[in-house]
Amino acid sequence: MVFDPRKAADPTATSLLTIDLAALRANYATLRDQAKGSECAAVIKANAYGTGAEQAVRALSKEGCGTYFVATFAEAETIRAAAREATIYVLDGFFSGSGPAFAEKAVRPVLSSLAEIQDWAAFCRERDQPLPAALQFDTGMNRLGMPHGEVEQLAAEPELLASFAPALLMSHLACADEPGHPLNEAQLKAFEACRAMLPACRASFANSAGIFLGARYHFDLVRPGFALYGGKAAEGREALRRVIRLEARIVQVHDARAGTSVGYGADQSLSRPTRIATLAIGYADGIFRALGAREGQSGFTAYIGGHAAPALGRISMDLITLDVTDIPEGLAHRGAWAEIIGEHVSVDDLAARAGTIGYEMLTSLSSRAQRIYTGSEAR
Ligand SMILES: *Cc1c(COP(=O)(O)O)cnc(C)c1O
Repeated sequence: MVFDPRKAADPTATSLLTIDLAALRANYATLRDQAKGSECAAVIKANAYGTGAEQAVRALSKEGCGTYFVATFAEAETIRAAAREATIYVLDGFFSGSGPAFAEKAVRPVLSSLAEIQDWAAFCRERDQPLPAALQFDTGMNRLGMPHGEVEQLAAEPELLASFAPALLMSHLACADEPGHPLNEAQLKAFEACRAMLPACRASFANSAGIFLGARYHFDLVRPGFALYGGKAAEGREALRRVIRLEARIVQVHDARAGTSVGYGADQSLSRPTRIATLAIGYADGIFRALGAREGQSGFTAYIGGHAAPALGRISMDLITLDVTDIPEGLAHRGAWAEIIGEHVSVDDLAARAGTIGYEMLTSLSSRAQRIYTGSEAR
């Protein structure tokens, strides 16, 4: 029997985010195979891209994942509680005075400037304990990391590097989702040049899309995020298995006359008698306002019982109106569920409609939605 998350939904639930942990594990296995010979870590920042960090870590750990990257220390604490033995890196900053917190949780900072390295080294000398950390180079993105010149300075101060345990040399690609972009090769060269200045150490370069640039980009450890959660790593590449499904409940169905209008601003007028279903979800749940009707054209399409229901009018904070005139009798009723992301619409497709990327769509989704996890029993 197939598990139906709707049956597990709370009677009061207005929206439902179903996360398929078996698909998450399968995607991890696919990426690990793609980068055979390298360790496959998982990037689970922003609450595992909105899917739920704790559950994601438990599922990925069962699949053999032992290294995790998060953006903030608070995120690292959540992971530590779910994975006692895992290696955890914090990507975004090591600030003065935070050494004890990192040491207590055995969390590793990613050090992206000489100043951060000096702080970490001083902290380690004080404790007389060379604790591990990663070093990040900026190889062309101009965002975060040490540029070439700073790496030279670092190389000239071997006593700094001797005060702690450099565990990983890393950098991040700006254009990995465009395989033909010249910056990919340029960054690869710059990364090699930075590595060559320092003592030998494990290295990491590739995000999801970087994995598909080929073995030269893999090094010792790859760091996929988005593709794990079912996102399309790069243009023209098939997404892996879909991990999330977002559904919202119909609050009310009613008939509206031709010539009347729908929603705020009376933006969309009805050219025919229209049956309207109102869904209990809106831009406060991450269904961006940009997905509403524009210039009289219906917005995104939801699916009810597999049938298309175009959005009418503007997206409100907590409500969306759908045209269900053409949906077979009986399917669109009070309490029924409409699929917004899932089998019919991928997160990437919906994001594109809103003029953004799947990453933003995923991480904006609905703290209000009831989360249901499936596939945790797998294997
Ligand atoms: C977010 C992030 C990743 C993961 O990127 P995806 O494109 O989601 O695979 C890898 N490395 C760094 C430094 C990141 O910030």
